[in-house]
Amino acid sequence: MTYRNHFLSNLSPGEAAVFKPYLVEVTLRPGQHLHRSGEPIEQVYFPHSGIVRLAVAISARALIQAAIIGCEGVIGGVAALGQEEAFSDATVQVGGIASRMAVDKFRSTLRQSDEHVRDAVMQVELFCMAQAQQTAACNALHSAEARICRTLLEMHDRMDGKHIPLTQAALAASLGIQRTTVTLISSKLQKLGMLLCQRGHLHLVDRSAMERRSCECYGQVHGRFEQLLSPPKRMASLARESAGLAGNGGAPSSSQDKPRPHPSIAGPSIAATASAFNRSRVTG
Ligand SMILES: [Zn+2]
Repeated sequence: MTYRNHFLSNLSPGEAAVFKPYLVEVTLRPGQHLHRSGEPIEQVYFPHSGIVRLAVAISARALIQAAIIGCEGVIGGVAALGQEEAFSDATVQVGGIASRMAVDKFRSTLRQSDEHVRDAVMQVELFCMAQAQQTAACNALHSAEARICRTLLEMHDRMDGKHIPLTQAALAASLGIQRTTVTLISSKLQKLGMLLCQRGHLHLVDRSAMERRSCECYGQVHGRFEQLLSPPKRMASLARESAGLAGNGGAPSSSQDKPRPHPSIAGPSIAATASAFNRSRVTG
């Protein structure tokens, strides 16, 4: 099998052979809970397609989206860091296919694996954390319209350019925005020729225009994707960059460890990062 999942597809043949006996291919059904906040993580999922939403409970009835994960991520990867219970609810938003692995096998496999593999899990979790932090700021500071545009762009990236099977009601619930507000903004975006809402699907008609209406959080998150996941980098290299060091006394030991330009605060251009995100996919 050729993996589309970013983590699995970047394993060397030897590393992949260690994981393979424990991986089971499963279908992700919309609405399916992969784990719930406060409950033990029992399975780790590596999505090849589809979108999983990580959400935190604000009240008994409201779950607000903190991050979304597609083929670039791992659901339950935090278990590798020793965390037994989930911090958030992981629910399938758009159906797809994933490889699944029992959490105890995941941990034991990582213990047998090269440091590079454990670093890769760390990078995936850091990207997820970066998304959650950006979303917290986004929810506090940015308009409902900008947040809707950002979310649609992020989902569109993970749909490989296909239409997004999402109702306005589901979009409103995910973002914690009143349904009537989402309806008003969707109508406005449709009149501007940017969006088409049809039979439970959202079609991005003019993606460039939507990028201009999104808040800067979209570019920021893609900057983090570039930094952490494209291409795979060793955590030691990341740590050296964070410390402003070139590593090995200033002489990179390999091409993989070469320091890369650090994204600016504003992040690379949205078009460049979105393109990098799509290029990084491995077609199966
Ligand atoms: Zn924002």
